[in-house]
Amino acid sequence: MTNQARLTIHDAHQLLRTRQLSSVELTEACLERIRQVEPDIQALVTVTDEIAREQAKKADQLLASGDVNPLTGIPMVIKDNMCTEGIKTTCSSKMLENFIPPYDATVVEKLKACGVVFVGKGNMDEFAMGSSTENSALFTTHNPWDLSRVPGGSSGGSAAAVAAGEGIFALGSDTGGSIRQPAGFCSITGLKPTYGRVSRYGLIAFASSLDQIGPLTQDVTDCALVLNAIAGYDRRDSTSVPQPTPDYTQYLASNLKGLKIGVPREYFVEGMQPEVAAAIRTAINKLEELGASIDWEVSLPHTRHALAVYYIIAPSEASANLARYDGVKYGFSYQDTDNMWQAMEKTRQYGFGAEVKRRIMLGTYALSAGYYDAYYLKAQKVRTIIRTEFDQAFEKYDALVTPTSPTVPFQIGEKMDDPVQMYLSDVCTLPINIAGVPAISIPAGFADGLPIGMQIIGKPFSEETLLKTAYAYEQATDWHKRKPEI
Ligand code: GLN
Repeated sequence: MTNQARLTIHDAHQLLRTRQLSSVELTEACLERIRQVEPDIQALVTVTDEIAREQAKKADQLLASGDVNPLTGIPMVIKDNMCTEGIKTTCSSKMLENFIPPYDATVVEKLKACGVVFVGKGNMDEFAMGSSTENSALFTTHNPWDLSRVPGGSSGGSAAAVAAGEGIFALGSDTGGSIRQPAGFCSITGLKPTYGRVSRYGLIAFASSLDQIGPLTQDVTDCALVLNAIAGYDRRDSTSVPQPTPDYTQYLASNLKGLKIGVPREYFVEGMQPEVAAAIRTAINKLEELGASIDWEVSLPHTRHALAVYYIIAPSEASANLARYDGVKYGFSYQDTDNMWQAMEKTRQYGFGAEVKRRIMLGTYALSAGYYDAYYLKAQKVRTIIRTEFDQAFEKYDALVTPTSPTVPFQIGEKMDDPVQMYLSDVCTLPINIAGVPAISIPAGFADGLPIGMQIIGKPFSEETLLKTAYAYEQATDWHKRKPEI
């Protein structure tokens, strides 16, 4: 294996800055790694090798001129639901199989300004609907820790690519867990920022009141570096928040004295794999050793409604957002008819996969006259209660700690016939999007060689507290140093 492709951003940056390594060499190492592992992992929808080589050359010029940023010259992967000018952006859907955006998402623009190198676009569940990448219309990604298992989803391609060393870091998006759950399943770090912290402009919408973009990285320092690059107000996203963005790396400390942590008992759900619960309890004891005070008896009783609320709100918003795919404006268009209505119907029939159609039907039903009050409005009311419960908890605690997922990565195919079982794999992550608060998943152990993730949840715009807590834990353990042997 090429070791360079396993460097973290901060280690690679030291070597690039001191000219011991060039971005061209680093990029070739990742491209070589892609050639080696991609037949087995299938993390990437598109490999952008030519673009990467050009960007790497430019990055080397920047590095030579001393005009450096911690991300300059670093090869990375972008989830395929973020618009990249001139590069296919498929959302892993037949509907957008040949869609080439005429513009960059804000996050892409920001990364370009840092001088990063794009090596590819990450596979995902179609339109980010799923927890395993099995809903991708293109192919399923395999978990680098065990090829017979899923990498999680929907940002499974991005997460698997980072775990396997195909890119040094990646961007994912998270509507109900899609950054954190695959981060947990692949034993890397994944952060869902506060709603409004990172611009969604150019992110292909799934459920607009829940979607957030965030980093997938090999460790917490890298996560802070990537958040530094992408966070901040954007006038093109009316839900982005004009809050100053601190330098997140300044908060990385190895001591947690004075930090108050709550453990909500509802997140140790029934049916949870005992090894997962045990690993997280051990990890929480470690946080206590590091100086945090722990309250094991926190209760967030409305958590149990989060799954139901999510599966009303997310499909409702999706049904509205996906109405634009009519065969006229974007992507796939069914032509073999002379009737406009039939063309639209066939476009949607053949362009969307089963899960996407299921969500559109659910959402359309929940929003229809007569049912709107009973479902959508009621879900919104419960959403407010869930958010209030978090607000109250954060009057007492700086952070809440839970498992990221109830199980370790499951077998490919295991949950495909049972959508509800699949939906349950996000039971610990969904409430966080409903409340709009930030949360991070970091490696916290293994069961039979399969990764376990710990989730740390914070109050709105307290990403620095999450990073600090995660960093202290990471420095005291070495889970993040273990790499899959692919
Ligand atoms: N698995 C959840 C869903 O299918 C969350 C997906 C996401 O966060 N994009 O909706």
